[in-house]
Amino acid sequence: MRLIVQKYGGTSVGSPERIRNVARKILQTQEEGCRVVAVVSAMAGVTDNLIKLARDTSQRPEEREMDVLLATGEQAAVALTAMAINALGGKAISLSGAEAGILTDRAHTRAKIANITPRRIQALLAEEYIVVVAGFQGQNPEGETTTLGRGGSDLTAIALAGALNAEACQIFTDVDGVFTCDPRVVTAAQKIDEVSYDELLEMAGAGSKVMQSRAVEFAKKFGVEFEVRSSFKADPGTLAKEETANMEDVVIRGISIERNQAKVTVDDVRDEPGIAGRIFSTIAGGNIGVDMIVQSVSEHGTTDVSFTIHENDLPGATELLTPLIEEVRASGLITKGGVAKLSVVGIGMRSHSGVAARLFDCLGKGGINIQLISTSEIKIAVVIDGQDADRAAQLTHKEFGLGRFVPPAAG
Ligand code: ADP
Ligand code: ASP
Ligand code: MG
Repeated sequence: MRLIVQKYGGTSVGSPERIRNVARKILQTQEEGCRVVAVVSAMAGVTDNLIKLARDTSQRPEEREMDVLLATGEQAAVALTAMAINALGGKAISLSGAEAGILTDRAHTRAKIANITPRRIQALLAEEYIVVVAGFQGQNPEGETTTLGRGGSDLTAIALAGALNAEACQIFTDVDGVFTCDPRVVTAAQKIDEVSYDELLEMAGAGSKVMQSRAVEFAKKFGVEFEVRSSFKADPGTLAKEETANMEDVVIRGISIERNQAKVTVDDVRDEPGIAGRIFSTIAGGNIGVDMIVQSVSEHGTTDVSFTIHENDLPGATELLTPLIEEVRASGLITKGGVAKLSVVGIGMRSHSGVAARLFDCLGKGGINIQLISTSEIKIAVVIDGQDADRAAQLTHKEFGLGRFVPPAAG
């Protein structure tokens, strides 16, 4: 019998009616001759509400207690899903991440999966149960609850599909698949039939939250192919795998936007060995994730170092860097919140030139100022004003004619 791992996101289980819809879909899969492991997220809004509750209760909630709190969202959702399946005449049982054998490291709120021992799941499948597993959580070596970072149910599903050697892994969500851009921002965005892990990894890392980037990373590492598709329609979605048929022909696969970013510039700092190390180890010491890093050309022995962080981290970064400014004899610290990052991603970029020029030109014509630029082999990212983000995505999407074959730019 085929084994399928299905994951249902928060919106898909957002109400009792939607949970019953999920239960019907799972039972239908079983009726088609499959054994099913269903990974379920907390009902829409629940995780955000729990985070808010914690912040309203304590100024600095401990990460350990945050995990105990947040894990309850998924635990409620799996119990309700199992009940809904049973009420329809099926045979289902819910498991927490720990009960499902998901062992993680000790990094509370962003734990990494260390090992999966799916013995209990396998025994229950052998007894013809539909096994409903709480996404986003596991246990550390001390048996304490851990969570896998926002969007972490995707990771639970991919990792379980790998550990159980499942024939298929389906990620059910509230859109029809992976689109050329967030369809809620660019209405002309088109569903992509197939996407490579590398492209999806870049898109997810650049803000397309349709898949958690760590989940895609895991899928790439262990070769777990998966499909992103709608919970509300029967249509096929987007297949993610190592290589796709026309990979090199499609210059730009997608556009991502990351909002709520902040830009930090250490101004006029001495251009000497060790300075960048000092700046970034100070930031890392505050557990602040740094995204784009740009160093300007050296002039009269000094340079500017700019980078982006999440806007929420700006007060912390400012506090950490202010004393350092004097020590490294920089002329100042310039910070700016409310910026966004726009990225264009495509493996075909490797063999086609002119993409950057076309992007900059398009933004320029739209009167959108570029504040920072960074490039990789398959991505070009720019930092722009947050208020320009939607318009920039729409203009860029149009410029590159996304979803259709894009002939290489002249030159
Ligand atoms: P779930 O709760 O099912 O995990 P998420 O809210 O995490 O769903 O992710 C789905 C959302 O991702 C969509 O509603 C959509 O707005 C957003 N999204 C952003 N970029 C893309 C993209 N390129 N393709 C599809 N959806 C995207
Ligand atoms: N409930 C968690 C979150 O909102 C995990 C997930 O939905 O994947 O981030
Ligand atoms: Mg998600």
